[in-house]
Amino acid sequence: MKSISGTNLEQAKSHNRRVVIEAIRTRGPLSRAALVRLTALSTQTISNIVEELVASELLKAEALQKIARGQPITPYSINPNGAYSIGLELERDRAIGVLTDLSGKVRARVEKTANRPAPAEALPLLASIADELYQGFRFDRTRLLGVGIAMPGRYATEGVTSLSPVTLPGWQDFPVARELAGLVGVPVLVENDATAAAIGERLHGVARALSSFVYLFLGGGIGAGMFLDGHVYRGSRHNAGEIGHVIVVPGGLPCSCGKRGCLDRYVSLGSLYEHLRVKDPGEYSPDTLEAMLDANSEAIDAWAAAAAEPLRQMIDFLELSFDPQTIVLGGSMPPSLLQRLAQHVEPLYKPVNPGIERSLPRIIIGATGRDTALLGAAALPIFSETNPQFDVLQKPVGR
Ligand SMILES: [Zn+2]
Repeated sequence: MKSISGTNLEQAKSHNRRVVIEAIRTRGPLSRAALVRLTALSTQTISNIVEELVASELLKAEALQKIARGQPITPYSINPNGAYSIGLELERDRAIGVLTDLSGKVRARVEKTANRPAPAEALPLLASIADELYQGFRFDRTRLLGVGIAMPGRYATEGVTSLSPVTLPGWQDFPVARELAGLVGVPVLVENDATAAAIGERLHGVARALSSFVYLFLGGGIGAGMFLDGHVYRGSRHNAGEIGHVIVVPGGLPCSCGKRGCLDRYVSLGSLYEHLRVKDPGEYSPDTLEAMLDANSEAIDAWAAAAAEPLRQMIDFLELSFDPQTIVLGGSMPPSLLQRLAQHVEPLYKPVNPGIERSLPRIIIGATGRDTALLGAAALPIFSETNPQFDVLQKPVGR
């Protein structure tokens, strides 16, 4: 297994360098003096770090800025071409990959059809997508930080993943990260879709610079990605945030988990398809599905109205449990549908401390859209390499 050690990107790993990168990433271009003020690092340390990061092309100097008094200053910004990352997502009927630069901008995209692939077919497919992304957008391979992959489903022990057996066969306890890393030759990070989406919004989206928020992932099922006090929160067995199986209607509709009345049964895309009597949503492309949704406006409004109360209860529960700065609504659900749910869910329950001043709305719609898990996957290696709280991420295999 090759890692990027030995390249100049290695420099980005020290804590202080991460602090500098994070400050510039969240606030935009900053001068050395501004960095000294914001980071509490010494003038000499900042000077050395900036010089090294510019030399390794992770930062670049912007044009000189004149100020009222004294010498003109040089602001430094993130150099988008300083590093790259690949994000992968596997669905029942397709595998998708994106190449993003250090600023999170998508530079290339590859999509291939699949048919409920087991690991033996899926891994070469995912590796070939990674290779095409690399071939199609030639860049210095030593600048590829790694591959992130977002997967639905629960985690078993030791970081291996298990997808819901309902969606894909043969993935139970399959060590995705290790096997894929062997094929692509760079570190591979795996997260569930909700946590990946939360990291994506933290790095490039609406949650930039937030220290505590909950990402509510609405898709085929429902999950929560939690970023609390500056850390990704995963739980003791990597299964925190499985809120789709919180009972919201006691004695309600039966759920695949064996209980009745779970949130998944009322708010997920699966529950909507059931409401619309769509038997196999896997047969339709996302665009066809969205057109169907547009054509069934009344039925969807009825579903959204019924989904609103369970969702409102869950938002209340998340606010009371975690005291987040905001709750980000997102997921693989079409954005038009998310908007409709967000409208129906208002008014939210009255906060317990209504007097407390808020700087953000209680609910914000995510910025990364329906590709949120995929873009979040691409954010994983960047987050892992440049966030000051790097120890919170599971160590990639091979490090
Ligand atoms: Zn359930």
